[in-house]
Amino acid sequence: MNDTSSLHPILQPTFETVLQRNPGEAEFQQAVFEVMQSMSPIVGTHKRYAGRSIVQRICEPERQIIFRVPWVDDKGEIQINRGFRVEFNSALGPFKGGLRFHPSVNLSIIKFLGFEQTFKNALTGLPIGGGKGGSDFDPKGRSDGEVMRFCQSFMTELYRHIGEYTDVPAGDIGVGGREIGYLFGQYKRITNRYEAGVITGKGITWGGSQARKEATGYGTVFFADEMLRRVNDSFEGKRVVVSGSGNVALYAIEKATQLGAKVVACSDSSGFVVDEDGLDLEALITLKEVNRGRLHEYVEGRPHAVHTPTGQGSSIWDVPTDVALPCATQNELDESHARTLVKNGLKLVAEGANMPTTPGAMALFQSAGVLYAPGKASNAGGVATSALEMQQNASRDSWDFETTEERLRQIMIDIHDDVVNTAEEFGRPGDYVTGANVAGFIKVADAMLALGVI
Ligand code: NDP
Repeated sequence: MNDTSSLHPILQPTFETVLQRNPGEAEFQQAVFEVMQSMSPIVGTHKRYAGRSIVQRICEPERQIIFRVPWVDDKGEIQINRGFRVEFNSALGPFKGGLRFHPSVNLSIIKFLGFEQTFKNALTGLPIGGGKGGSDFDPKGRSDGEVMRFCQSFMTELYRHIGEYTDVPAGDIGVGGREIGYLFGQYKRITNRYEAGVITGKGITWGGSQARKEATGYGTVFFADEMLRRVNDSFEGKRVVVSGSGNVALYAIEKATQLGAKVVACSDSSGFVVDEDGLDLEALITLKEVNRGRLHEYVEGRPHAVHTPTGQGSSIWDVPTDVALPCATQNELDESHARTLVKNGLKLVAEGANMPTTPGAMALFQSAGVLYAPGKASNAGGVATSALEMQQNASRDSWDFETTEERLRQIMIDIHDDVVNTAEEFGRPGDYVTGANVAGFIKVADAMLALGVI
């Protein structure tokens, strides 16, 4: 992996420096390598980007904060977690990106997410920089009281680093409406300010935006719909498989179904469900969002639904499908999964999750002629709608669902067109990876060059 010789010679020493500076950070190195692989057409022809410093600066976070998060569980025992906030790049606006609470969280994962976020946010065309944060805390199986105490302790350190004009967190894996509420509540208490624009993903009655909850999933499907439209096709009658069953997955399932597709499978970390009748979204939302249940409970009373537990040799990617929407986590779809999907007639992949496809799987999709969209383009609808939430907070206004959804749809169409046009301009028609990386890079690099060496 990460074979430096495949990079443009101008970029090889820069990537070597990234490897030396960030030892053992496999996910971060993978994300940087993927962007650098797309940069050949631009560093070769555009002298202002060819200097080592601009690419090197983009790979170096502006600030990285790591902190202790002590809290007391329901048994009265003290628990210690680790908190992170990586403020990656603020050339285009305040740092912006979600918080992830999951036991796998470490500095490498937060840095890869912050790096990707920088380009994704640039693609939205909205004034937001890139950042990411989180903790190795696992909310699964914890009581509401434990989650609240953890969130309050986390914010007791984080509050000093964030603000409407500096850094605006949001949700990600393990951080939904409940966690955002506890985090915002503690921020408000400590600062004595109702600064709604400090965090996004808030509830509708306390500063949130309509359609934010749905935005990442809907946006991914809007983006995929544009990809299909470009080749005179549509979601109508398509078979769709969506991995995950969290925030992004549930609303991707909803929008794909609304556009005429049949979504037959979804998953969680314990296994996957196939329902040949098409997934019953209402039941899934009650199960996952209201009851915080596990997916195997979905099949009870459904004769055509089958649950396969993780670790039994098969995966959700064995289910034949026209469209695959990976919406769970990084590196969940590898080369052997990709081979099976292609053999089964796959036409399109649009990533709802961040970096869910391994480099080998991505190369396989591209060489097999599968339409493939990287997450930094196709899942940008979540952060774009967060920026719309910030706009509403700043103007003390709130828009209705239809207005907000339509703005989201138009943003996804604009990102799609920008990515397609950039890929064509740089001699790679139909290559969404090059289009997204180059278009995002140019916006960030131009702003950084304009702002001087800071
Ligand atoms: P949620 O916590 O709501 O859901 C995550 C889903 O993925 C759950 O079904 C979870 O299963 C599954 N999952 C998580 N980790 C693993 C794992 N290691 N192996 C297998 N399954 C796993 O998170 P979101 O839906 O918010 O986020 C999903 C992805 O989308 C992430 O990559 C995130 O970075 C990305 N994203 C999210 C945005 C947002 O607005 N929320 C915006 C843009 C991207 P289980 O419950 O069993 O853990």
